[in-house]
Amino acid sequence: MPTDNDGVMIVLSSPSGAGKTTLVRLLSNLDNFEVSTSHTTRQPRPNEIPNKDYYFVNEKEFQRLINNQEFLEYAKVFNNFYGTTRTPVIDKLNKGRNILFDIDWQGADQIKNKKLDYKLVTFFILPPSKEVLFERLSNRDMKDKLIAEERMKQFSHDVLHWINYDYVVVNENLEDCYSKINNLIQAEINNGSKDYDPEYIRKHVEKLTS
Ligand code: 5GP
Repeated sequence: MPTDNDGVMIVLSSPSGAGKTTLVRLLSNLDNFEVSTSHTTRQPRPNEIPNKDYYFVNEKEFQRLINNQEFLEYAKVFNNFYGTTRTPVIDKLNKGRNILFDIDWQGADQIKNKKLDYKLVTFFILPPSKEVLFERLSNRDMKDKLIAEERMKQFSHDVLHWINYDYVVVNENLEDCYSKINNLIQAEINNGSKDYDPEYIRKHVEKLTS
C-alpha cells in the first residue's frame, strides 16, 4: 500500500498536438513535482537539452537497457523507442517527490499493469475539436502539411485509448486545462472532492470520433 510519505505518479498522455508537453512543463513548477526524463532513440530537436528533455541513446544502448530490465516501461512511438528507467523514479517516489510522466498510452498501460505501491493518477488530454487539432499540427510543421495529415490519421487511433485513463481533460484554453488538472491532482492527493463530468467527456469523444 502507498504511504502518505511516498510521492504520487502522475501520467499525462495525449494524441500528438493536444498540448501535453506544455502542460507537463507547467505542472513541473508545482512544489515537490518533477518530470521523469525518458530515454529515446529519436534524434534531438534543435531546442532540446540532452539529459534534461531526454537521454538520447542509440538503439544498441536502448536494447541493453531492455535486456538489463532497467525499464519501468518502454514503447515504440512513431518509429523510435522511448522508455522510463525504473531506479530514478522509485528513488524519488521513496523520498516523497511527485513524478510527472509525459508518456504515450502504451507506457501508461504498462505502468498501470505493474500495480506498484505508489498512488497513480492518469490523465488523457484531448483537443477541443479536429479542426483546432489540424490547425495546431499544421502550425507546428509549416514545412510539411503531409506530416499534419499523417498525425491526424494517427489521432483517430490514439484517441480510442481515452477509456483507460482516470481523467480526460479537454485543452481548449491552456490556463483552464492546467488548473483543471492541478485541481484534480490536489483532490487525489488530499482525498478531496473531484470536479469532473464523465458524461461531458463521453460526448466530447463521440464528437471527435464521428
Ligand atoms: P516526442 O518525440 O514528440 O518527444 O514524443 C513522442 C511521443 O512519445 C509522445 O506522445 C510522448 O509522450 C511519448 N513518450 C515520451 N517519452 C516516453 C517514454 O518514456 N515512454 C513512452 N511510452 N512514451 C514516451
